Amino acid sequence: MEVQEQTRRRHMVAIGPLLIGAADAVVIAGPCSVEPSYPEHAVQVAAQGVDALRACVFKPRTRPDAFQGLGRRALPLLEQARARTGLPLVSEVLSAEDAEILHDHVDAYQVGARNMQNVRLLEALGELRKPVILKRGLAATIDEWLAASDYITCRGNHQVVLCERGIRTFETSTRNTLDLAAVIVAQEPSQLPVIVDPSHAAGQGRWVPRLAAAALAVGADGLLIEVHPDPSQAWTDGQQAIGLEACAQIVRTARLRAATPPVPDLVPS
Ligand code: PEP
Ligand code: MN
Repeated sequence: MEVQEQTRRRHMVAIGPLLIGAADAVVIAGPCSVEPSYPEHAVQVAAQGVDALRACVFKPRTRPDAFQGLGRRALPLLEQARARTGLPLVSEVLSAEDAEILHDHVDAYQVGARNMQNVRLLEALGELRKPVILKRGLAATIDEWLAASDYITCRGNHQVVLCERGIRTFETSTRNTLDLAAVIVAQEPSQLPVIVDPSHAAGQGRWVPRLAAAALAVGADGLLIEVHPDPSQAWTDGQQAIGLEACAQIVRTARLRAATPPVPDLVPS
């Protein structure tokens, strides 16, 4: 029986000058949350060769007494980071109001796992012409995740990137269970680029590099990774952050991807 290589229809999403969904896998990285030293963090993370920066100032925390992000106060820090690195910024929004506040300061919005089915937020982002990274919900099926992306695209904003970040299962050793099959499955019907966040899946920084490599091997269009110059000092999610050297290593692995693309899908002809 002959086999044929199946080629994927590709839809590319531009975040500033960065193209997601092209042959090169992209690396978006930075601390879990923007802290007062963010401009310095941004310069140090940028020096590792990443393509875009995490720049989260609104944090959806489990407990109301936990740090909720610097909010509006962080806007000058974002401007300094952009001026010093020239890199595009990606920032989480919990509401349409957050999106308005950040509109002129970031290049893409992130919708977190906890808000994947916040339909009013998705509709509002569908009306704006700014790219959206839509994370998979904590307990969402792939179908529900794709349906959530439709809330944005059906309003005319087709600049959507899906992000697998691990789901809740019976396993408790990792923070979440990284569903790498979801990358393959979601790419088929959606045409949208699919990236992977190994940090929130692993919950431990030392497990992140190998999960990142695995994500690239199955054909993820990029990575979203928590990186902090000193993970032990991070204000949020320090345990799962990786340091600068590990970040540089992951960037090198991602750059090799264009030379050694993932295993093609072979279908009987
Ligand atoms: C985050 O990216 O910091 C975050 C809160 O992620 P998630 O929505 O995947 O939990
Ligand atoms: Mn985090």
